[in-house]
Amino acid sequence: MLRLRITILLALLLLPARAHTEPADPYATERQRMVETQMVARGIEDPLTLKALAEVPRHRFVDEGRRSAAYLDTPLPIGHGQTISQPYMVAFMTEIIRPRPGQRILEIGTGSGYQAAVLAACGVEVYSIEIVPPLAERSTALLRELGYRVETRSGDGFFGWPEAAPFDAVVVTAAAEFIPPPLIDQLKEGGLMVIPVGTPFQMQTLMLVEKREGKTRSRNLMPVRFVPLRRGE
Ligand code: SAH
Repeated sequence: MLRLRITILLALLLLPARAHTEPADPYATERQRMVETQMVARGIEDPLTLKALAEVPRHRFVDEGRRSAAYLDTPLPIGHGQTISQPYMVAFMTEIIRPRPGQRILEIGTGSGYQAAVLAACGVEVYSIEIVPPLAERSTALLRELGYRVETRSGDGFFGWPEAAPFDAVVVTAAAEFIPPPLIDQLKEGGLMVIPVGTPFQMQTLMLVEKREGKTRSRNLMPVRFVPLRRGE
């Protein structure tokens, strides 16, 4: 009898506490659904890429007012005329360069910091350059707060990051009219670059560039639309 009473008392004490406990991440279910419906269903299969996408809290990389849209199948504005890419595009660009723990990867166009965080969650060392100073400051602070291993810098990514080169891969997240030669120079032998190439706001093609014996081989992947790679600032 006493045991029953204690049990009931304990249950009563625990119930409200449980009801008020927030789940650790209120977006975890939505994020898992994003991975299944937007990535797996469209052919993304690299386990490391999928794991990173399932982990990185994308809602933290968008404005507070847009959090409810963070896991939708769309790019979103992040201010200063820039956007955080569509989640599928981030997954596709991550998988295609085959990130593996211990590699060193250069990203051009930090923006919100989301792509950089996804790469870091794959266990690679990330270097990322952003040309708009307030975006660079915001993403640097957020990546640090969330504990991602990303070195950031504000400047023109056209010239790459020579002091940290060579890189296993380069991910360019703004559309260039041509492939910046310094970025090819900074690729390792056998290294890969994924880059949207084309005229700003018109037809652009996502390209995969491989460096072999000093030469490059390029492959067109798909038509895309990215913000332009800015020059001369
Ligand atoms: N990877 C980002 C996508 C941001 S959009 C994300 O995950 O959110 C592309 C970014 O490239 C913009 O923030 C833009 O300011 C930046 N950018 C444009 N031209 C650049 C340049 N020459 N060097 C570095 N960043 C550039």
